[in-house]
Amino acid sequence: TAKSLGKSRYSFFSSDMMDNYQRRIEIANNIETALSENEFSIYYQEKVDANGRRVGAEALARWNSKKLGFVSPAEFIPIAEQSGKVTEITRWVIERVCRDCSDVFSRIDPPFHVSINLSAHDLKKYHLIGFIKGTFLKYHIPRGLIEFEVTEHSYLDNLVVANRFFDEITALGCRVALDDFGTGYSSLSYLTKIPIDLIKIDKQFVDNIGESARDDALVITIIEMARRLGMELCAEGVETMEQRQFLTEHGCHMFQGYLFHKPMSLREYQNLLARPAEEV
Ligand code: C2E
Ligand code: MG
Ligand code: MG
Ligand code: MG
Repeated sequence: TAKSLGKSRYSFFSSDMMDNYQRRIEIANNIETALSENEFSIYYQEKVDANGRRVGAEALARWNSKKLGFVSPAEFIPIAEQSGKVTEITRWVIERVCRDCSDVFSRIDPPFHVSINLSAHDLKKYHLIGFIKGTFLKYHIPRGLIEFEVTEHSYLDNLVVANRFFDEITALGCRVALDDFGTGYSSLSYLTKIPIDLIKIDKQFVDNIGESARDDALVITIIEMARRLGMELCAEGVETMEQRQFLTEHGCHMFQGYLFHKPMSLREYQNLLARPAEEV
């Protein structure tokens, strides 16, 4: 009957979905005010080499909203992408990181790279390149200090657009890293066609180290592949000594993960930088 149909339709659009939908709308609607009212901040997570020396830091956006509480980037970045607002966040992140660089990071001996994450949508925004150039000039950013990360998925979304963007970026002296490697491709052939300096092995592969001979073989294969392609390699989400040992033994010499450091505020990171790098 119509009544039972109506009822089943109603239960199909459950209150959970409604809550979820409303939360997404609220997040999307609050991004602009959050940017102008400084609710966003940057946390830095250190990257280290096999000797525990610091080789860089990744800038990760954080949002502590007056209205919504703490919102994770894993939640607000996809919503910002879908609502066309992600490039405003990216611009804010670039400006803030460059400011922090001129204050803090430019005093660290090279090679040290501060990496900024980009979304697929950013690569289509040509004005972003002009903004990056201008911001580098404004803060006297040394050539080679800033690195950009883009997920494999974003890169493959539009290879032509991405390559055009990264040609300009590499001309500015910035390195390009392929983030979350191994989670988004359908074919490996693109790896010969893109100006990538660094591959970041996704945490899911690192998590699986020691699970099975096949999981281990896959990690070894990625390490070997990066080496042969002449790309640097960083393992993300390294949490245990076993993972670190396995990766080192097989030739991966750059790590990021809770085993070393969690993402931290600039102030905490400055305190860390004031201490000598730990031998780990
Ligand atoms: P990602 O770029 O792959 O960043 C690594 C994520 O793994 C970060 O999560 C970091 O906090 C987390 N992580 C690092 N080491 C460990 C570990 O040992 N264990 C565990 N469990 N987690 C670890 P976060 O900060 O929540 O960021 C999530 C994602 O959101 C990032 O993944 C990145 O794709 C995106 N994101 C963050 N900030 C920005 C941004 O400013 N712009 C854009 N476009 N995306 C961003
Ligand atoms: Mg990243
Ligand atoms: Mg990553
Ligand atoms: Mg990842």
